[in-house]
Amino acid sequence: MSENNCKDTLDKVFEFLANDLEESEMTKIREHLDGCQSCKKEYAIESKISNLISSSSMDAQASFASKMQSRLQSEI
Ligand SMILES: [Zn+2]
Repeated sequence: MSENNCKDTLDKVFEFLANDLEESEMTKIREHLDGCQSCKKEYAIESKISNLISSSSMDAQASFASKMQSRLQSEI
């Protein structure tokens, strides 16, 4: 199983969304997301967050992102 990669994957979800990883890492994460429901869920959330962030002001994005991050972390 790929459960061991969950932490790695979630650590890199933002970079993944920003296309900011090596191609091999992008592939690894994409494959993990394909087979992992819980990471897929987190990915969907992060992807929504990053959409919101890119469409909101600097202040709002800082507080919103850190609020969401700590909320997500306490749920994991
Ligand atoms: Zn996973």
